[in-house]
Amino acid sequence: MLEPVSALLLDLDGVLYVEEDLVEGAVDAVVRLRERDFALRFVTNTTARSRARTLDKLSHLGFAVSDPELVTPSGLAVRYCRDRGYQRVALVMNDEVKRDFDGLDETVDRAQAVIVGDLGPAFGYDVLNQAFRCVMDGAELIALQKNRYWLRADGLSLDVGPFVAAIEYATSRDAYVVGKPASGFFEQVLDDLGVCSRAAAMVGDDIESDIGGALSVGLQAILVRTGKYREDKGAGVGDRALLGDRLNRRPPRTGDASRRARAPQRSARPCRPWPMRRFGERTLPRRRPAPSRCRR
Ligand SMILES: [Mg+2]
Repeated sequence: MLEPVSALLLDLDGVLYVEEDLVEGAVDAVVRLRERDFALRFVTNTTARSRARTLDKLSHLGFAVSDPELVTPSGLAVRYCRDRGYQRVALVMNDEVKRDFDGLDETVDRAQAVIVGDLGPAFGYDVLNQAFRCVMDGAELIALQKNRYWLRADGLSLDVGPFVAAIEYATSRDAYVVGKPASGFFEQVLDDLGVCSRAAAMVGDDIESDIGGALSVGLQAILVRTGKYREDKGAGVGDRALLGDRLNRRPPRTGDASRRARAPQRSARPCRPWPMRRFGERTLPRRRPAPSRCRR
């Protein structure tokens, strides 16, 4: 059972839609969540299309999502490069996603960072070898995400992770991963929402990127049985995440929003995330702080 939350992070692919097909009931579920006054963020590891096209797709499918509500790895990668002072970057991704990096200079000559996104079938020896050379020449390896696989309409397919792993193996360097399950991804979303981790829940179909990542930084989590969900993997969720059939089934028990609004304000002390053990163990956290739904 979930503790009450005021914010929900909704994964896109596999939760709201699978490629061009809507997940049954997803549009109505989002409308109902808005009616109940939840702060929503639509968080995706999708690196095959630009932010603009993702927003277009959501609109086309019937979801009303504003630009600030959409969180993508490319936006966070640009922020990371600016923080690090990287201006010259090698971009391993399709031309459409490169538009999200307009403020940076694309080059393989003395690149300060190699940013790896999705190239699908265009991933090949020459592309990986160029990235390998840049990293060996001193560029930082940045992965927009490192998912192992995803669900296309024609079946499970290799995602970006295996190609990032190939460069890591060849260079003996670890990539800085921007997207889920990186803790920085969730922390930036929480910071943007202005809520502490226990006041938010992640809804996703990926047991590693969505559920494991969220639990590791103290969010609550709901694994849905749509998209890439597989029964043998879902069994490992145990007592640390809620299992739902799909987004519009078994919605999180979150309390009445109007009653929450009338309730006296709690002190805005920051809450500590649960000290979770490694994902995959079936044990409860060793120590559980008092529930807090503070807004920072
Ligand atoms: Mg997904």
